[in-house]
Amino acid sequence: MFEGINGSDGIGIGVAVVAIAPDLSFTPTAPSDIEAEKARYSAALQKFIDQTNAQIARMEATIGKESAAIMQAHIEFAEDDGIKETICSSIESGMCAEQAVSEAYDMYYNMFANMDDELFRERAADVADVKTGLLADLLGKEVVNLSVLPEHSIVVVSELTPSMTADIDKEHVAGIVTETGGRTSHSAIIARALEIPAVLSVKDATSVIKHGNMVIVDGTRGKVIAEPTDAELIKYRSKASAFAQEKAALEAYRGKETVTGDNNKVLLVANIGNPDDANAAIEHDAEGVGLFRSEFLFMDAVELPSEDEQFAAYQKVALRMKNQPVIIRTLDVGGDKNIPYLHLQKEDNPFMGYRAVRYCLDNKDQYKVQLTALLRASAFGDIKIMIPLVTAVEEIRQARALIEECKADLDKRGISYNKNIEVGTMIETPAASLVADNLAEEADFFSIGTNDLIGYTMCADRGNDKVAYLYEVYQPAVLRSLKRIISAANKAGIMVGMCGEAAADPLLIPVLISFGLDEYSVNPPSILRTRRVLSLWTKEQADALTEKVLTLKTAAEVKAALQAAAR
Ligand code: PEP
Ligand code: MG
Repeated sequence: MFEGINGSDGIGIGVAVVAIAPDLSFTPTAPSDIEAEKARYSAALQKFIDQTNAQIARMEATIGKESAAIMQAHIEFAEDDGIKETICSSIESGMCAEQAVSEAYDMYYNMFANMDDELFRERAADVADVKTGLLADLLGKEVVNLSVLPEHSIVVVSELTPSMTADIDKEHVAGIVTETGGRTSHSAIIARALEIPAVLSVKDATSVIKHGNMVIVDGTRGKVIAEPTDAELIKYRSKASAFAQEKAALEAYRGKETVTGDNNKVLLVANIGNPDDANAAIEHDAEGVGLFRSEFLFMDAVELPSEDEQFAAYQKVALRMKNQPVIIRTLDVGGDKNIPYLHLQKEDNPFMGYRAVRYCLDNKDQYKVQLTALLRASAFGDIKIMIPLVTAVEEIRQARALIEECKADLDKRGISYNKNIEVGTMIETPAASLVADNLAEEADFFSIGTNDLIGYTMCADRGNDKVAYLYEVYQPAVLRSLKRIISAANKAGIMVGMCGEAAADPLLIPVLISFGLDEYSVNPPSILRTRRVLSLWTKEQADALTEKVLTLKTAAEVKAALQAAAR
């Protein structure tokens, strides 16, 4: 079993097509006729542009204009006057077209690949794509052609470039495995648009998986199995058909109210990482945003985003979501989220160190820029501010005091904002859970961050395989903590939501209903499934199950009881 990043949900089972890039090596030779060499380059360029335009037209017809727009970048990099001039003057100075093209695009590739901003780094793949296309034309070689594939192919590539994906015949591809790429890479964006299960960043995939191997791609969990056993095949075939059936059946929940089996309304909202993700939230029928991880805005920049830049991003989400609630979490830096230009000192124990609200309260002027931007955006929708990693009452008091200062500044500047903006806190530390009753007097709402809460409660790092048995939401200690937090909020009459991954766990939902959770914030593709599961449980049924579950002593017993009940 190989682990990677879950690029696109679903289970794919098929036969590996290991697509290794063509050999584009050449021996540089000085051209005898400079003009003829430039004409050779021009012809290759025109052919590349024509092929790319044809791909764009195909993509527009199959996966829509937005994804096709990605290929426009290829045309831009191919037609860029600066690059063309560099290539032509290299040829004039005695280089062959292959070498001139290669050196010019390598220079741009290195420039993009070394940028701090992940989005710019991803552009390096586009540059490499243009170079490959032009070189292949000049050398008369075929680039990997994924347009003619046998049925049920699992495409295994080092890097899935946009041009490869444009050609993929959706009907024939059962899954994609790559050696590179993150969730914001073009490969991931297009794989999701195509709804092809994909696992990215699987180490040495093109060598450990052999052409013709039977392969299972579990895009939901980021796992790949090569040459599965019969038992694994049976298991994943049934998972695949369950996934397909569930997906089709879930459409019945689109546009429906989110209610429990006995008609109690709960809020079902989405977790997003950047303003454009609001589209996915809307597409999947979310009722708002329960967590906008604002740190991605900071991670995607090369320096601190200004008040205006932040305002534009927050306003965009507020406007897209119309008047639905949008909870924006203030900068959650540190731990596993590094922002190079903040130059945070290396710590022995970064997960327990200088991070999130601790960092922000120590850098008040910087924090006030974000708070002011959030306040300004609150004039355009139902924005709420959420403070991460709170462990003590004074942190929320201090954050609130800063918000009041920002409001006074905005009054002076004559800029409008929502004077009654809600300020909530994440509950993701055992300390916050233990003083949840006190925090509930200071906060307008809670959102439980189970991703961190489980780790801190169980003293178990989620990334460490050896302690994975402890990192479980079903651990009795975690369940008791959840109960305590939710009932503190219920008693104080404030809204309590959950934005950790556990909110989308179908097994846990009856327990959360029983505890009295008001809001479920999940990844957009989990919206309809969560709405369905919520509709299956009445409070009475959920209470009966939860009462039993709370008597159990181990995570395994809890999970088994929840699985039995779900069946
Ligand atoms: C959490 O900890 O559950 C959470 C939602 O925050 P993050 O995953 O961003 O740490
Ligand atoms: Mg967290």
